[in-house]
Amino acid sequence: MATKRDYYEVLGAERTATEAELKAAYRKLALKYHPDRNPDDKVAEEKFKEAAEAYEVLRDPQKRQIYDQYGHQGLEGQGFSGFGGFEDIFSSFGDIFEDFFGFGGGGRRRSRSRAQRGADLRYDMRLSFMEAAFGTESEIRVEKTATCPSCSGNGAEAGTHPETCPHCQGAGQVSRSQGFFTVRTTCPHCRGQGQVITHPCENCRGQGRILVHKKVAVKIPAGVDTGSRLRLSGEGEAGVMGGPNGDLYVFIHVEEHELFVRDETDVICRIPISFVQATLGDTIKVPTLQGEKELHIPKGTQPGDILRFRGEGIPSLRNGHRGDQVMQINVKTPTSLNKKQEALLKEFAKLEEKKLTTKLKNILKGERIATR
Ligand SMILES: [Zn+2]
Ligand SMILES: [Zn+2]
Repeated sequence: MATKRDYYEVLGAERTATEAELKAAYRKLALKYHPDRNPDDKVAEEKFKEAAEAYEVLRDPQKRQIYDQYGHQGLEGQGFSGFGGFEDIFSSFGDIFEDFFGFGGGGRRRSRSRAQRGADLRYDMRLSFMEAAFGTESEIRVEKTATCPSCSGNGAEAGTHPETCPHCQGAGQVSRSQGFFTVRTTCPHCRGQGQVITHPCENCRGQGRILVHKKVAVKIPAGVDTGSRLRLSGEGEAGVMGGPNGDLYVFIHVEEHELFVRDETDVICRIPISFVQATLGDTIKVPTLQGEKELHIPKGTQPGDILRFRGEGIPSLRNGHRGDQVMQINVKTPTSLNKKQEALLKEFAKLEEKKLTTKLKNILKGERIATR
């Protein structure tokens, strides 16, 4: 163990301090470093324990005398080794905290009762593209632990109660004498619970919890996507000894759609049109998330052009605003023509050739000028 500080120094008290002065000094420190006020603070925890140990010694005239005369070594020679943990401290000095925290006796019953939060659960849910886009309601079956209804979670058979531990008289701790001193340890008989179950509940075999299959209604908001996670508060596993339930997390997986691909709130699809439609323009029917809609194809549409239906996409999870339906135009080249179509196209090509030749000449002329 590291070198111990002087107990008077720890409490910030004079060597001549009276019992009342020591108590006041200790109370000040104990409240300052109280674990309820400094959760998960290791430094505060050490200070809290250090102050408790100092006070434990100095408030006892016999121990104080040994300490004054022989210091820490003198106490060690008598078997005093300080406190095991918070529980020891609270059971010793409960009265110090009582007036401040308003708890009865122990000063911090929560740590005594060993209440534990239940575990969180995960459920993976598959949704169709449309269910994800517009939301849905679903009922899922979850296997989880729940508080045993027969014994209300205390583990004792109906009509009986957990009994006060005869070994520690309900204190959860036992005292052992070592030399002058008394050392407190967690009661091995009840493992610190202060109670023992003499007739275990048959339904849960004294565990207080049972495995159940529960149906849970889940409301899926519009706009969820693969990777979205919903939290159902309190639908996880039951808490232990009166602790709160865990949560249930639903992880969303969205199936692919044969026509639509999602890009956040936009839906993207490819629209195949003929080169004639692209050239002359047309109005066609195209699928949307909510049925067919007319799409106007402008004259001279190029392959890869993008057309949009504003606000026909997927609602945003955050604000409900819908994205767009984004349509990539895919111009199809005809692969089988009849004789007449072919003749007409050849006719068309002759005219096109003249136009192209003129255009090409102009371009070449322009380039000559540019390169000169
Ligand atoms: Zn039970
Ligand atoms: Zn006990």
